[in-house]
Amino acid sequence: LIQTPSVARRRRRPAGSGRTRPPERPIGIKLELTHACNLRCDFCYTDSPRHTVARTADLSDDAWRLVVEQALELGIVEAVITGRDQLLRAPLTLELVERLCAEGVGVTLNTNGWFVSAAIADRLARLPGLTVDVSVDGATAELHDAARGVPGSWRRAIEAIALLLDRGVKVVVVHVVTPLNERWVGELLEQLWLLGVGLVRVTPVVTVGAASRERGWKTDRRALERAVAESRRRFGDDFRPTLHGEFVALLPRRTAAPASMLVRPSGAVLIDSLHPFSFGRVGEGLAACWERIVAGWRSPEIDVWARGITRLDQLGSAPTVPYADLERALAGEAVAPVATRGHEPSLPRRDRRSNEPGVAPGDLAAARARVLERGLGRRYVGAPIRWSGDRDGERVVRSIDDGRTWRLNATAGLVLEQVSGRTAGDAAGALAALHPEVPRERIVADTIRTVHWLTTRRLVRAAPAS
Ligand code: SF4
Repeated sequence: LIQTPSVARRRRRPAGSGRTRPPERPIGIKLELTHACNLRCDFCYTDSPRHTVARTADLSDDAWRLVVEQALELGIVEAVITGRDQLLRAPLTLELVERLCAEGVGVTLNTNGWFVSAAIADRLARLPGLTVDVSVDGATAELHDAARGVPGSWRRAIEAIALLLDRGVKVVVVHVVTPLNERWVGELLEQLWLLGVGLVRVTPVVTVGAASRERGWKTDRRALERAVAESRRRFGDDFRPTLHGEFVALLPRRTAAPASMLVRPSGAVLIDSLHPFSFGRVGEGLAACWERIVAGWRSPEIDVWARGITRLDQLGSAPTVPYADLERALAGEAVAPVATRGHEPSLPRRDRRSNEPGVAPGDLAAARARVLERGLGRRYVGAPIRWSGDRDGERVVRSIDDGRTWRLNATAGLVLEQVSGRTAGDAAGALAALHPEVPRERIVADTIRTVHWLTTRRLVRAAPAS
């Protein structure tokens, strides 16, 4: 379910767009490298906790290398590396991401953040065209860790984001909304903004995989829309949270043709993560599997399966539930059945008290202080520029890299000057010294808003001290 927006857009082209047949060769590919995960989310769409306990087998390293080479030969332009958490296979994951990036493919790497060390962040920072999606599920350690089932997972996720942003890696935060954390979406969005994140995808639980075995995932969509709109209003256009849609088009006669494919850790080849139908195994060759998708994506069997499902929260009652049931083979070899029954993981018990009015979700002040410290501690370098002006503190700045010209007000000019070679905290200090009458909270907010503005326009970029 987590894809680059561009792959997601192209995966199914809108009906009537003229693309009623899949392209001759796939545009993108999603690779789920492993069934295993170190966390224990009870909404896990890939049902990883059960597979981890059952020790479900994954494709070998060599098999994945071959898949990537075949995908490159097919001419893909975008790839999503996922499966969760594939950094449990870090050497292989990094090798494949580096290979794809070296060939000019736009890659999105999904992770829960636990295994992102400074050394891994350094390697990822060298890759052009890479986006890292990191999951954060709460505005406090208590909320996030309760959802993810493992203490310390909030701290590791926040630290992973900070390590990546410190190095200038493009990060998208994925926030899974449940009845337990929905009241605190606004606080989480503010924290992510303070941390320096620019893109957030707010995603209510999709009832596939582990989530399909539970009930009670419904959240207040209108309240989520309000929280997203309010954070956009408060934090400006350089902070872009989006709310995942609630409707889905699964019927082949209603949707446009597929343009990418998905490979599961078992080697099964599917159209995407919402249709539980396989079109062969990687051992038969990706090209052959794509041809089967081209020939079979309008199969009447898919039509029967998808009838009546128009919303994502209805997927859990489909005749075959993606990621909870074994895929149905529509063409090619089927994968061997995987037995996870009898291998029940110990999943977090949902404690609904955190969603009751008046109940604090844990130590909000400590969480906010932690992310603010990481955000203000980030070091930046300025881009090569020429500047002129200085009337009432205003400046006109021309980027030598891309030739664009910007008019900066006095605050932006000062922050640009002060943050270059220093930290956002240093810039806030300089601003506070100039305006001692302004409350510190306002100084910090102005500095962070300005740093977002400057980084979005590439006038400064994050760079670790070394
Ligand atoms: S949802 Fe949780 S358990 Fe599932 S793969 Fe992601 S981090 Fe792991």
